[in-house]
Amino acid sequence: MSSKPAVLIVEDNKINALVLKKTIESICEPDHVICDEAVFRAVSERDYKIILMDINLGGNSLDGEAIMKILKEDDRYRHIPIFAVTSYAMPGDEERFLSAGFDRYYSKPIARQKIKGDLGLVLSTQVESNR
Ligand code: MN
Repeated sequence: MSSKPAVLIVEDNKINALVLKKTIESICEPDHVICDEAVFRAVSERDYKIILMDINLGGNSLDGEAIMKILKEDDRYRHIPIFAVTSYAMPGDEERFLSAGFDRYYSKPIARQKIKGDLGLVLSTQVESNR
């Protein structure tokens, strides 16, 4: 069993998911799902320390913002930081997503060292606060 913290990647694009996974896998144990139902199943089965959430997930899934809001309204999951990772990168988009309830915002294409560094900091802070 790995001692690394679990992080959930929600992303419907295989290439984006792979890039994100490769970016963070040295500091955490990433799982990847592509749609709303898989998110709700995953969080019920594993204690994720962070969720990285794409917004557009295809026509058969709720979008990432709707999924985030459902998780934030649920006492079991509201403590999990949820970071938007999205190609919505027009002026005002960051503020809009943060106002909606996301804990952080990253635009695509992702700045890999930035996101890895930020995740490392958040994960290490969580470990300290659990001691
Ligand atoms: Mn997408």
